[in-house]
This record gives sequence, structure tokens and C-alpha cells, in this order.
Amino acid sequence: MFAPDLLDALRNARRVVALTGAGASAESGIPTFREALTGLWARFDPSRLATPAAFLADPALVWGWYRSRRQRVRLAQPNAGHVALAALERRFADFTLITQNVDDLHERAGSRAPVHLHGNILAACCFDCRRPHALADETGPCDDEPVPPPRCGHCGGPVRPDVVWFGEALPAAALAQAFAAAAACDLLFSIGTSGVVYPAAELAPLAARHGATVVHIDPQETGLDDLADFALRGRAGELLPALLAAAWPEQISG
Ligand code: NAD
Ligand code: ZN
Repeated sequence: MFAPDLLDALRNARRVVALTGAGASAESGIPTFREALTGLWARFDPSRLATPAAFLADPALVWGWYRSRRQRVRLAQPNAGHVALAALERRFADFTLITQNVDDLHERAGSRAPVHLHGNILAACCFDCRRPHALADETGPCDDEPVPPPRCGHCGGPVRPDVVWFGEALPAAALAQAFAAAAACDLLFSIGTSGVVYPAAELAPLAARHGATVVHIDPQETGLDDLADFALRGRAGELLPALLAAAWPEQISG
């Protein structure tokens, strides 16, 4: 099922990077960015909800949307792809997991320290002074109803999700760690990312320029297929466990 060259590259790799996108959480029931466009929020472009200007224009609309997304993340469970990535990490002394996802499913599957390029949807901070804000227990339906955001206890500013919105800078330390790991690795997995959101989309080309083997996993054709040495068409939750079993079959029989 998998090319022998791919299995050799994986077994012989010393420095491995895995970059995940929204597709890695799709099998956990968290819609990808594209799927969000077909759902209840088809009336709204998420890229126009996920901007500072959108928040300032209608804080309750944006806060309510994020509140529902947080609820969905809390109810979701890691899938077989998350679990396989945590198992892969345990095989390599030098392994960096970089994610564009704002959920905590990698952590809950056992990954030690995923580099979160786009923040954490379960955290909140003040829009004005950026101090962290502890979220009260949230219950209730995931109905996307508008909800006014809480106010900052220090300056009274509106509280926002601690995620990176369109037009905002990525966290500098995470970005530096991601670029250093991609430039130095000898194998990079790109999993469930359409490769259109920058600067994360630069990581796979960077690794390729430095001679790494690039393995892309996605059920659909994406712009990364041409760049990848191995473009595997399928779901992360199926292909990743199968790839591990093929590379290290003794783990299964033993
Ligand atoms: P994207 O929605 O642009 O692309 C997702 C990709 O995943 C698509 O190419 C799709 O074909 C693929 N995919 C769908 N199901 C899959 C599966 N089972 N296995 C493997 N691949 C699958 O997402 P992106 O490239 O991550 O960029 C969109 C932005 O939206 C990012 O900034 C991301 O942070 C954010 N986002 C995050 C979450 C999350 O945290 N779970 C969810 C939605 C969007
Ligand atoms: Zn404040």
C-alpha cells in the first residue's frame, strides 16, 4: 500500500516534523475551515468573522461564534490520526509537531508540546491590554447565538479568544521554532492543510528546499501535491495508523 521508498525514508529519518491543519481534527467532528462555509455560517465568511475589525464591529456576533466553537472542541475527542502522531513522536528523539489548529486534541492524544501557530481557542485575553482572562464555566448549546463578551478585570476592555486572527502576527516564539524545525528536518509530514494560509504554508516548501522528504496527507487534491515527494490521498485517521503499522510491523504482531 505504501511505497517502499516512503517506508525507508520514515524509518531512517532522524529529525521529523509534522504540520497539521484543520483536516487533522475533521474526523473528531470539528469542521474544517472550508466546511464551515457550507454550514450554518454559510451566510458569513469565517475570514470576516476572524478579524480584529469584525470583532470591533460586532463583538457579540464574534464572541457567540467562538463560544460555540469552544463547546464543540470540549465535546470532541482525539481521533486515530492524533493518536498515531503521538505514537510517532515517541519513536523519534527529534520530533516537532506544529499545528495550525486551535483545539487541544493533540495534547489530549498525548503529544507533549505541540507548537501552536494560531493560538488556543480555549483561552481568552483582553482585546485592549492583552492580559489573560479566565473563562467562566461554559455550558449550553452550540447554537452560534450572539453573546456579548465579558469585560477585562483590569482595563474594562472586551475579552476576545486568544487565537490569531487574519491580519494579525503569529506568536514570534512559535513561529521561530516552527521555521527552525522545518529547515532542519529530514522528513516533514503535512497533514490536512490546504496550504493557503501563510506563513504556515511556507513550512513545507522550506523543508523541501533544505532537502527534506515531504509527505502530504489529504483526501482532496491541494496545492501541496506537486511539492510533496509522497502525496497520500486519504484521511489522516486511516492513513497515519496504517503508515506506522507498515513501517514498524513488529509493533502490531508483538
Ligand atoms: P483548511 O480548512 O483550509 O484545509 C483543511 C484541509 O484538510 C483540506 O485540504 C481538506 O481536504 C483536508 N481534510 C479534510 N478532512 C481530512 C481528513 N480526515 N484527513 C486529512 N485531511 C483532511 O484548513 P487549514 O489549512 O488548517 O487552514 C485554515 C485555518 O483555519 C487555519 O488557520 C486553522 O487554524 C483554522 N481552523 C482550525 C480548526 C481547528 O483548530 N480544529 C478548524 C477550522 C479552521
Ligand atoms: Zn484589559
